[in-house]
Amino acid sequence: MDFKVVERSFFARIARVVLKSNNVAMVLGKTIHLSGVSRDAFLKDEGWVAHELCHIRQFREHGFFRFLWLYLKESWRVGYYNNKYEVEARVEGMKHRRHMNPTQKTASAITPTGAPLPIDTKKTE
Ligand SMILES: [Zn+2]
Repeated sequence: MDFKVVERSFFARIARVVLKSNNVAMVLGKTIHLSGVSRDAFLKDEGWVAHELCHIRQFREHGFFRFLWLYLKESWRVGYYNNKYEVEARVEGMKHRRHMNPTQKTASAITPTGAPLPIDTKKTE
């Protein structure tokens, strides 16, 4: 899939400060904006990449502004965690986890941040 990764993104940094999280991946169109995580560390994380690539596909399928609107509406309706776009991305991101033990699974979990945008965070030790 055609995508770009921006390290130390200004937008992701704002999101990170506002959300008080350690690391943030935020998808806008076909660009993954990172803050608090390096491009290399991110790309090595198969599950996280799969999750964010799913958001890129959602942007492509629905169109930039339309997807933002659909995402926001969905969050109002069912809450961020149950937002169907996050559920879909979470399923994508978990496909690689079948060989993992429960501790690894918890460590690899990606959580939506509750922001009205596809912004995700991952707990780091
Ligand atoms: Zn997500």
